[in-house]
This record gives sequence, structure tokens and C-alpha cells, in this order.
Amino acid sequence: MENIPKHEKLKRIPAVGKILSSPQLAEISKSYPRNLTLRAVHRVLETLRKRVESDESVQDPSIFEMERILDDVKTDLRRLASSKLRPLINATGVVIHTNLGRSILAESVLERFRPIAGGYSNLEYDLEKGIRGSRHSHVEEILKELTSAEAAMVVNNNAAAVLVCLDTLARGREVVVSRGQLVEIGGSFRIPDVMRRSGARMVEVGTTNKTHKRDYEEVIGPDTALLLKVHQSNFQVVGFTEQVETTDLVEIARKHGLPVMEDLGSGCLVDFSRYGLMKEPTVQEVLAEGVDLVTFSGDKMLGGPQAGIILGKRNLVDAVRKNQLSRALRIDKLTLLALEETLKLYRDESTAVKEVPTLRMIVQTYGELRAKARRFMRMTGRLDTKRFHLELTDGNSKVGGGAMPLFAMPTRLLCIRPGEVSANRIEEALREYDPPIIARVEKDQVLLDFRTIQDGELKVVAAAIRSIAES
Ligand SMILES: *Cc1c(COP(=O)(O)O)cnc(C)c1O
Repeated sequence: MENIPKHEKLKRIPAVGKILSSPQLAEISKSYPRNLTLRAVHRVLETLRKRVESDESVQDPSIFEMERILDDVKTDLRRLASSKLRPLINATGVVIHTNLGRSILAESVLERFRPIAGGYSNLEYDLEKGIRGSRHSHVEEILKELTSAEAAMVVNNNAAAVLVCLDTLARGREVVVSRGQLVEIGGSFRIPDVMRRSGARMVEVGTTNKTHKRDYEEVIGPDTALLLKVHQSNFQVVGFTEQVETTDLVEIARKHGLPVMEDLGSGCLVDFSRYGLMKEPTVQEVLAEGVDLVTFSGDKMLGGPQAGIILGKRNLVDAVRKNQLSRALRIDKLTLLALEETLKLYRDESTAVKEVPTLRMIVQTYGELRAKARRFMRMTGRLDTKRFHLELTDGNSKVGGGAMPLFAMPTRLLCIRPGEVSANRIEEALREYDPPIIARVEKDQVLLDFRTIQDGELKVVAAAIRSIAES
């Protein structure tokens, strides 16, 4: 091939028509739509053309053979036809992992998807009166019941909730917020940016580490619309620090006839300190302290679908509901369904921590994780391989989703020590497995955390490890 000029090589690429009329292609493409087959053929030929054009040293004449090209078409067709959104196994130990879909939904929630998604529903229809109803009504009652809020509504996510609340209460006016709370959440949600978008003017008070009551008092004026508190979700300032207590903030606001809003971020309904975790204020506690409007995510500590929950005083929630933005940010019916069913589980706390997967994973004890790890080792059986070595070790898992950032939960890990195969290669092989298994590499070891591996997935992980050992 060496002496053949490039344009001659290009001529050897078979014509599209020739490939399309080959009987082998007819066989390969039987189960795919015609357009997808065409797309795959074009893609494969284009790749081949680019390779010849860019690479002087294309030596191997077999790349122009029909058989080879058809093989590539077959592989490409399979890739094109496969679903892009795929289930996977989270072995990272980060329970609320935003990149991996945050919370997984409870069994009882999943069961309700088929009838509601596959049929008509009373989404915005009042079955008693036979007239148009409100989509918010389905979750408003249960949210009020669980939190004692006066009113409730939900939007697309918490970022949307913060945006629409600021837009409603403070457009063109001032919002006072502590410098220690100007947070950025992953995926570039930044309080100052959201504030600008809403048309509110941000008035920063205090310093990064310390903000006092008088800092708020000093800036409140005729243009002040709102005092905002933002939960320091994903970081902690330690050492010489001070933030104004919620009760004090409420007191200042009352004195000036202003509302207080708190972006709780994760927002939990269960007090996790009762399960040996860190004390984070619950939604109920924040409302009881007198905060007028609270927003939080549906898919963080609540363990439900992506949603932004807005709770608080009747007149404020009503005003937010009437805002045109609420229409643009409105929640979809499948989300609403998942949220209602998740919330129902919270009527009994012991049911919630057993059945809401996010809560279940968070409250798992070290003892339970040890037992799970032992079950897993029995499933894997003895592995006689030089490729790597398996053992169980102790480590820490994280809540994730910007909740309890410094809090480490003791856990049990599967540690894969590399032998003939490197740690990075093992991590990659797990990721390429079907279903993909996402693990972490630390100090040249691959670690799989049993906390986020579901019971039903243990067998799959064991099979993956055996297959990597044997491949
Ligand atoms: C996570 C978080 C948000 C964004 O919530 P989404 O539901 O992801 O839109 C906003 N504020 C705080 C404090 C958060 O922790």
C-alpha cells in the first residue's frame, strides 16, 4: 500500500450503494429502521475516509474489504440503537450522587408509574366538582400534614424554586444575605447569579467567616424586600466563625416587617441525629422557628424525584404560584406522582427509613454493611487469579448532594489490589461492564463501597469481578 497515492486509496473505499445492496447488510439491518442503517453506513465510510486522508501510513489493505466494513456497520448500528440513558451500579459510596441520578425511588413509587404514565389522570381536574383543578393540590395537603406549613407548592427543581421566590418577593428590590452563604452548588448554581437573574439586588453583609445581627440591622432600609438564608450545603467554614441563628434572623425581620426565606438545599424531614448522623435542621424545625418561606430539593435527602419544594406562609406561596415564571418552571406529572408516593412513606418514619432508598442507605449500620460484604464474598467464591487480589477493608461513605459535606459514615469496602492488571484498568473494566459499575481508585487500589450497592446488585458485581479475573 505504501506507494499508492492517497487519492488512489480513497478510490478503494466501497460506494455507499454497493454496501447497501449487499445481502449481508440486509441480514445485519433486519431488526433496525432503514434510516438508522443508512446513518451507520455513512458514519463508517466517513470514518474510513478521514482515516485515509489524515494518515499517510495506512498500510493494511483489509480496511477496504467489505467484510470488515460490514462488521463496523454492525457494531455502529448496535451502538446507535442502544439507549443512551442506562442503568448502572453505584459503588462509589456517595449516596446522593448528582452525576449518577441523585436519589433512586422506592418500590411503591415505581409501581404507580405504569397506570399514571400509561393513562389519563386527574392531573389538573377536580374529580369532586367536575371542573379544572390545580396540579399542586395533589402534594399540597401531604406536605402541609408532614411539615405543618401553611401552604405548599412544587416546581421543577430547587434552583427554580429559589429563582421564582426571589422574583416574586424581591424583583427590583434588595435581598440581604450573609457573605458566608454565597454558595455555589455543583452544576453552576450560584446564589449571586440566581439573584441577578431574578432581578433582585443582592446586599451582602458580614464577612466570609463571621456575620453578626447588627450587620443585618445596618443595611435594612426602605428598599429591603427580604432576608435570605442559604444553607451552607457543600462546605463548612471552621475555626473563628459565626452565622446569625435562624431565630435571631426571624426576630430582626419581624421588627422591620420583612419576610425571611431559607434555601435549605437538601432539606430533610427526618432528624438524622437519631440515627447516629449529624444534626441538620429539619424542614419542620426551620418552619417552626418562624421562617416564612423554605425551599429544598426533592431528590436530595428527601429521596424523591427531581423537584423544588416551596413551603411557607399562605400569602407568600399564593403570590409565588401566581407568578408567570411558575408556569414555565412547573412540575411534570410523572415527577408529581413520584413525589406524592415518596411523601406518603414519610407518614411513618420507620417506614420511610426502611423503604426510601436514600434514607435506607444513609442509616445502614456498619454491622449491616459487614454482613452484606460477607454475603458478597460468598457469592464471588474463591478466585484463583494473578490479575488482582480481593479483600475487605474499612472506609468511609459520604451522603453527597451537598449534604453533611464533612460527615464520614463508617462503611465496609471491597478492595481490589492490582496484580497483573493495573488499578486503572480494573476500574475501566468495571465501567465497561454491562451494567456499568462505578468504583473509585485510591492509592492504586480499586474500592467498591457496599453502602450504595443494592442487595439485588451484589450478584451482578460478583459476576463482573469473576469475568474480569478470567478475561
Ligand atoms: C442543591 C442545592 C440547590 C439546587 O437544588 P437543585 O434541586 O439541584 O436545583 C440550591 N441551593 C442549595 C443550598 C443546594 O444545596
